[in-house]
Amino acid sequence: MLITNGKLITWGETNRILEGWGLLVRGDRIVEMAPSSELEDKYPCEEQLDAKRQYIMPGNICAHTHFYGAYARGMAIPGAAAKDFPEILQKLWWPLDKSLAVEDVYNSTQICLLDAIKHGTTTLIDHHASPNAIEGSLDQIAKAAVEMGVRVSCCYEVTDRDGMELSHRGIGENIRFIKQLKQEPNDLLAASFGIHSSLTVSDETLEACRKAAGDETGFHIHVAEHEVDEYDSLAKSGTRVVDRLEKFGILGTKSIVVHAVHIDAKEVEILARTKTWVTHQPRSNMNNGVGLGNVESFIRAGVSVCVGNDGFSNAMWDEWKTAYLAHKLWNRDPRRMGGYEVVKMAITNNANLANIFFPKAPIGVLKEGAYADLMFVDYHPYTEMTAGNLPWHIIFGFSNRDVTATIAAGKVLMKDRVVLVADEATIAAKGCELSRKTWERYHKRFN
Ligand SMILES: [Zn+2]
Repeated sequence: MLITNGKLITWGETNRILEGWGLLVRGDRIVEMAPSSELEDKYPCEEQLDAKRQYIMPGNICAHTHFYGAYARGMAIPGAAAKDFPEILQKLWWPLDKSLAVEDVYNSTQICLLDAIKHGTTTLIDHHASPNAIEGSLDQIAKAAVEMGVRVSCCYEVTDRDGMELSHRGIGENIRFIKQLKQEPNDLLAASFGIHSSLTVSDETLEACRKAAGDETGFHIHVAEHEVDEYDSLAKSGTRVVDRLEKFGILGTKSIVVHAVHIDAKEVEILARTKTWVTHQPRSNMNNGVGLGNVESFIRAGVSVCVGNDGFSNAMWDEWKTAYLAHKLWNRDPRRMGGYEVVKMAITNNANLANIFFPKAPIGVLKEGAYADLMFVDYHPYTEMTAGNLPWHIIFGFSNRDVTATIAAGKVLMKDRVVLVADEATIAAKGCELSRKTWERYHKRFN
């Protein structure tokens, strides 16, 4: 397929905006990138996709999400409003995830991936929990990802909160899925080993996870989202969370630590030394009222900080905009969190993390040999837009509606704002039908 007549935003080591350029896509890769007219002369018989002078840029990447959270939208939580994050877990997330059935996992993944396609998000790293539908739950996520053509890495959140039997079954689901992917690899799928948080696992469980995971797989775990995680770790082990995770071999170059809002300077040093990834989700942090990780300092200390959405919408520019604004307000300083810091996290680091899971070709960059994961953006700057000021055009100008086409692994998933790989009305109707039953089960847990 020859994509013609575009304005390429390349990202990568040197970001360039190339007007009147095109891309030759073969299979799931970009194989040639040149001025559009040159490519049209060279490949006259190739099937063409006219970008109509829109911007063509790499698909967005989400470094941490929870597809299973889809049914929380609009759900009433009984009783007094949760006063802090531990109560949000107790009143919302834990009874909700216990109410999920296997078909809910599949449908909520479809809902989130449809939203991702509509917003040009082509790679997502999921963290899944469904304690009453553990076995095979990751297959449901994988099935929806492959059907819809989006890159997904997933894992099951191991936790002791529902007893040791379910904890072991969570370990089992991670291992089953990791082994299955080894036997039947798919370039759209990857796995990590999920743990809910230090707060909900004993030393024995951490040890069992470490043993089960082997050396090739990294972990994906929430860390210090609220102070309670740190005080729990101090009470359990006499050390802070990151120290505790290091002791059990949970950190490292393939592991993801989520949030890290309340870690101290020593923990930042450990994350930098072990080259562990940290993901930042400012919309979730604001919604839960937990504070904001000092991610600018983490970056200065050498930690690779990425951007996720923690189950919020898969419109990743909304997360960019929130990061840009939230740190200014939190620090009462408009100089904090500049556009380049946002790009460092959401483009450079997210792409590097995605490549840990999908290592066959570069992701998050337009260049020859890279994965053809792309979006078309119908944006008309009314002031000069250059590679240098692009982050501010995205933050203040780009709108989610501007995404008109999404391509992942060389396959067109959305064209002219029409999603080609799934029927939105059918998926939404199924969501309404299933979520009604899920909400009933959830409310029974309160009575
Ligand atoms: Zn999360």
